[in-house]
Amino acid sequence: SIPLSFFAGIGGASREGVLVKGSSFLETLSQTKIVVFDKTGTMTKGVFEVNGIHHSPYKDEELLEYAALAESYSTHPISKSLQRAYGKPIDKNRVSDVEEIGGHGLTAKVDGKVVAAGNAKLMKKLGIEYHDCSHVGTIVHVAIDGKYAGHILISDVIKEHAAEAIAALKKSGIEKTVMLTGDAKNVADHVAAQLGIDEVCSELLPGDKVEKVEELLTKKSEKDKLAFVGDGINDAPVLSRADIGIAMGALGSDAAIEAADIVLMDDDPLKISKAIRISRKCIRIVY
Ligand code: ADP
Ligand code: MG
Repeated sequence: SIPLSFFAGIGGASREGVLVKGSSFLETLSQTKIVVFDKTGTMTKGVFEVNGIHHSPYKDEELLEYAALAESYSTHPISKSLQRAYGKPIDKNRVSDVEEIGGHGLTAKVDGKVVAAGNAKLMKKLGIEYHDCSHVGTIVHVAIDGKYAGHILISDVIKEHAAEAIAALKKSGIEKTVMLTGDAKNVADHVAAQLGIDEVCSELLPGDKVEKVEELLTKKSEKDKLAFVGDGINDAPVLSRADIGIAMGALGSDAAIEAADIVLMDDDPLKISKAIRISRKCIRIVY
């Protein structure tokens, strides 16, 4: 039977906007020693601003239009941001044959032209020569009908409570914080340094994130637990693999929310340490 205080714990957590899907997760959460995060949408808002368009033979608005249309069927934070930056209504009838490639970007037909939009990995995969970029930021390279068409420089902002959230975790005895991201090294290192995260791995493919978590799982002692916090479709496998999966609920993907054991209703990273504190209190009452 489940001790009553577990229900009290789940109830208390839910009043804080922390949805715990079952009593066993409170126990595991209370033993968490390593917290691993995704970057985009978890530590950052996942709302990118366009900072500039470079190396393009097209007019800025024209390149942005191709990119926004190509991205119009995707729910990736970059896609949504490009559609927002474009700002005009999008006629999806102009778009077909969309193919998303996890950790790379996507290709789609726009007005019959094949548009590719994504990172350097995508350009390499498609055999398209691209312009390297010296700017610090996330870069969306665009190719049209197999020819390089320039890149869009975008940037995200760190969530309001992110640094405080990391500090609170350390204060509550979390031994290690790790950030995993598919984004560029310069962006990832900058974010990790600002937040005081112990370890950072960048330019990862979705499968690499699972591998990294498995590596961390084998290195730790059995009694210490590992939590992963993420928001995206690509995060679902890692959320399942971790001892505890925590998803951002407000802007998170359905796949992430489904795969998670705990959902943070308001996407506030400060709620991670709050949830851990609630779980420990609840466990102390039970035993
Ligand atoms: P993260 O680990 O930051 O959540 P993802 O694994 O979703 O990121 O994506 C990793 C990288 O792949 C992004 O930083 C971006 O460069 C590229 N990418 C992924 N999806 C898209 C897309 N729809 N449009 C453009 N680029 C994309
Ligand atoms: Mg993400």
